[in-house]
Amino acid sequence: MSDWEDEYDEDGAAIPKSVTRSAPTESKLPINVYKTQNVSFGVRNGPRFGGPRQEKAVSGGKYGQWRGEGGLRNTDPEDGPGFRTLGGGRSGFSPVTITVENASVGRIIGKVNKGDYESEVVIFGSSPAQQKAKELIEDLVADCPSRGGGYNGGAGSGSVWSAEELQAANVTPVRQVIDWNAIRENKDKYEELKWKDVAPMKKNFYTEAKSVSMLTTEEVSEWRKENNNIFVDDLKEEGEKRPIPNPCRTFLEAFELYPEIMENIERVGFVKPTPIQSQAWPVLLSGEDLIAIAQTGTGKTLAYLLPGFIHMDGQPVPRDDRGGPGMLVLTPTRELALQIEEECNKYRYKGYKSVCVYGGGDRRGQINVVKKGVDIVIATPGRLNDLQMNELINLHSITYLVLDEADRMLDMGFEPQILKILLDIRPDRQTVMTSATWPVGVRRLARSYLKNPMMVYVGTLDLAAVNTVDQTILIVSEEEKKSYVFNFIRSMQPDDKVIIFVGKKLLVDDLSSDMCLQGLAVQSLHGDREQCDREEALKDFREGRVHILVATDLASRGLDVCDITHVFNYDFPRNIEEYVHRVGRTGRAGRSGAAVTLVTRENWKMAPELIPILERAGQDVPTELVLMAERYEKHKKEREMSNPREGQRRWGRREPKW
Ligand code: AMP
Repeated sequence: MSDWEDEYDEDGAAIPKSVTRSAPTESKLPINVYKTQNVSFGVRNGPRFGGPRQEKAVSGGKYGQWRGEGGLRNTDPEDGPGFRTLGGGRSGFSPVTITVENASVGRIIGKVNKGDYESEVVIFGSSPAQQKAKELIEDLVADCPSRGGGYNGGAGSGSVWSAEELQAANVTPVRQVIDWNAIRENKDKYEELKWKDVAPMKKNFYTEAKSVSMLTTEEVSEWRKENNNIFVDDLKEEGEKRPIPNPCRTFLEAFELYPEIMENIERVGFVKPTPIQSQAWPVLLSGEDLIAIAQTGTGKTLAYLLPGFIHMDGQPVPRDDRGGPGMLVLTPTRELALQIEEECNKYRYKGYKSVCVYGGGDRRGQINVVKKGVDIVIATPGRLNDLQMNELINLHSITYLVLDEADRMLDMGFEPQILKILLDIRPDRQTVMTSATWPVGVRRLARSYLKNPMMVYVGTLDLAAVNTVDQTILIVSEEEKKSYVFNFIRSMQPDDKVIIFVGKKLLVDDLSSDMCLQGLAVQSLHGDREQCDREEALKDFREGRVHILVATDLASRGLDVCDITHVFNYDFPRNIEEYVHRVGRTGRAGRSGAAVTLVTRENWKMAPELIPILERAGQDVPTELVLMAERYEKHKKEREMSNPREGQRRWGRREPKW
């Protein structure tokens, strides 16, 4: 997330943190002195401030105070010009606070306060003692040539200000206007210069096999549907969209021209490509940038590694003349880096060497391997950035870049390091980004650092399951929900098994107690239950001792009970992915399943996202849901019109087009 780090409102927009300004903290000051940090004691005094040091103690009667008549200067820009009283207190012995240049502080007793130049000195004791101390401090400070040119430049004034400074002090500061256009132009020029001597690069290594070209559109869409409902899109924003390559359903269709790759595949014994591989290989071998939305375990590592090998081998500049690695894989954690390295080491291609560079590992050892020369660097952003800043690794030679698990890298706060690393990698490289999710932060990163990417989205098995589930949507009020769920239970057949999903743990307990009271055999599952109770609940449900499980989304993913016949969404889930996961609990292993979902007015913002899911799965879309979606879209637009800035924040700036 992180962008990853704001809090979000119900629309998914970041809630700006309120800027609170603390009131003056009088109580922290030794006496009732406000803003003493904003008052310069007149050690810099000169003509403007009334000539050489003229401060003197002024007895304030009950609230004894002194002030430098000519030498006190209010330096707070928000306070405007003028003098401010220092000191003062409830007795004649109240402490006095003066402010002096930091440069002088080393020589006197004081504490550095806010600000770059000045320090605050609080003097305690009786008025005469304070006065005496103040004079001593003055003398000390006056003796101190605190600024580069010495303090006596003030033409015999005894001031620490030079004549130029004093003159400058009389001039109202002019706001510098930043010429952003010039800066941008310079940046572009600098970029051009920086990359003008890079080696030539080749990206396209793909020849479509005849059997792939011959696939009809229907065959392709059928194949995609059957293979985890894989979805491919061209994210090119300008000009005509490109044709989306057909999938390679066999290894040979992708790598017929690369026998060494085929040998490797035969050696490891894989039978056929995973869905992500089938769709990613033609895209990557064609030299296009790719965003792969896929989770670990889908075969995504091999999806980018094999085209990477071919890419490196096909570069016009010989390997030894490139001066550094050709492929970089950035990944969030040490474990993942090691896992990728292990995967990489399974394959032997042209003797390519890889190194794993991660924090916590043997830095010196990693540097030594890099120095000896490697082709592939698998790294966590922090450690790589460290090597980069210390010029221990050359990133200019990288032409194939992988940002693996981008969402997690952002969640872990690696964005600054990634951006620094990317500055040193040639902009015309080929880039692959993988991510398990597709939040705004990842979209923004992709938009900034990938060029006209293709996107391959591989759903989980749940997504495929969702197509085999009969989905009913009921628009109800909150009060009606209980009667709906009990009606549903009454209509259950003896072999039916249902998970009832609710939003809150308390409601799980509430609903399951109600059911128990009505004599129903029911189990419940949520995060506040003891582990042993959770295990027992699942066991009872799995083994059929109970046919009703009331649960939170704790049970929406990964729960593999193959004979669940129904999913009942008592509360609509927080997001549409969760809906898909919940529905995917039924209809597994080729069985049919049914889902009933209660939707209330409060869930209206989910309607526009729910409709396409239902349509894709060939389900009826209730008219009320369509109206709800329309109302929500209208409301969204109106809100945007009435408050364009808010609109921009909510739906414009934060949400890249894709
Ligand atoms: P990954 O999603 O990259 O973490 O891969 C998960 C596991 O799947 C790794 O152990 C791979 O070796 C394995 N794998 C990758 N591609 C295939 C394939 N085509 N067939 C079977 N296993 C594969």
